[in-house]
Amino acid sequence: MAADINAFVTEERIEGDADAAGPLADATVAVKDNISTEGIRTTCGSEMLADYVPPYSATVIDRLTDAGATVVGKTNMDEFGMGTTTETSAFGPTRNPVDTDRVPGGSSGGSAAAVAAGAADVALGSDTGGSVRCPAAFCGVVGIKPTYGLVSRYGLIAYANSLEQIGPIAGTVEEAAAVLDVIAGDDPHDGTTRDLSGIEGAAPEAGYAAAADGDVDGMTIGVPTELFDGADERVVETVEDAIAALEARGAETTEISLPSVEHAVQAYYVIAMAEASSNLARFDGVRYGHRSDSDGNWNESFAETREEGFGAEVKRRILLGTYALSAGYHDKYYEKAQDARAWVRQDFEAAFDDVDVVASPTMPVLPFELGESLDDPLRMYLADANTTPANLANLPAISVPAGEADGLPVGLQLVGPKFGEETIVRAASAVEDR
Ligand code: GLN
Repeated sequence: MAADINAFVTEERIEGDADAAGPLADATVAVKDNISTEGIRTTCGSEMLADYVPPYSATVIDRLTDAGATVVGKTNMDEFGMGTTTETSAFGPTRNPVDTDRVPGGSSGGSAAAVAAGAADVALGSDTGGSVRCPAAFCGVVGIKPTYGLVSRYGLIAYANSLEQIGPIAGTVEEAAAVLDVIAGDDPHDGTTRDLSGIEGAAPEAGYAAAADGDVDGMTIGVPTELFDGADERVVETVEDAIAALEARGAETTEISLPSVEHAVQAYYVIAMAEASSNLARFDGVRYGHRSDSDGNWNESFAETREEGFGAEVKRRILLGTYALSAGYHDKYYEKAQDARAWVRQDFEAAFDDVDVVASPTMPVLPFELGESLDDPLRMYLADANTTPANLANLPAISVPAGEADGLPVGLQLVGPKFGEETIVRAASAVEDR
């Protein structure tokens, strides 16, 4: 099945510590192909890195194998994480195991598809603007985007570093939380990770997995109108049913308003593309990755290498990102986007004075058919309207299966306050328990 749906770019193993005990002992894990694995090629779904073999492993890989998990392969993804369907990969699209004519979501589509197809127990993805939660929603599995700074990004090949976190994908909330327990925590190799001991509630003694107890009695759930407006009716109905199930278990819901999120997707794309244009400048054919056989001067060789190595979506974003940062346009676009980012952060902070979690559809649409959104980048970008706010505000968010509509999976998203992973795990576990 995993081969039919093209979930893996490379199927090679890194054995876990056989003596380890705990929930991940003997578990198999599929790893998104932008997370470095020593001795195993790491392509980012790009021709540019098709033969690139990292000399070291990401911190999250060491933590997983130390906990007994065995890496079974590197999963397909949108090129450098840029996409919502896993169709921009240089290695062909991944198919959704639930319906193979449809996309698995993206950009961590191979990881979610591998878990949904039973090719791995759990998986790692990365989430810059929704790339863990979107494929989790489309494939009917669970995905967690941790609070910025909870999980080390050392060894994650950067797309937009101020927004992204590595996050787990699994069949159940408890399993996803068990992976988070293993990968969370500060790392001397990544200065943006936080020492959790000083942050109240950030590192629950019993771990995140223990919070998957379904106990939402007394919890307050904020339901923002802005994240339901314009969503597919079938998605809205399914998500509302799941929220009603939480109410039946003693949670209280209250309508809230987050006016800033109407601008989140625009701000996200300006910031993500600006950071991408800078991060991807390192792929010049000199130090690693593809190099053209141009015999021209340095400038020509650099241009040709990038012309050959990058796909269309990556080029579009480098161009737009460079433009948004250029003199004269910086204030008009980049600066405005940063202001919008601050506004989104404030809006959520204010909301969390009154509610414990914020609930919405993860994706406003059902899984696209293969090819459907490829010619229409704007449509693809707009599908990220509900997931990007959590990245802009650095907040933790989970996608949990809410049910099905027309036989296709629908995800419910729960966003929590900073380092409130325990709360979103608890709330999500109540959704899957019904
Ligand atoms: N779809 C979003 C984008 O293309 C999110 C990608 C991600 O989270 N890596 O930028």
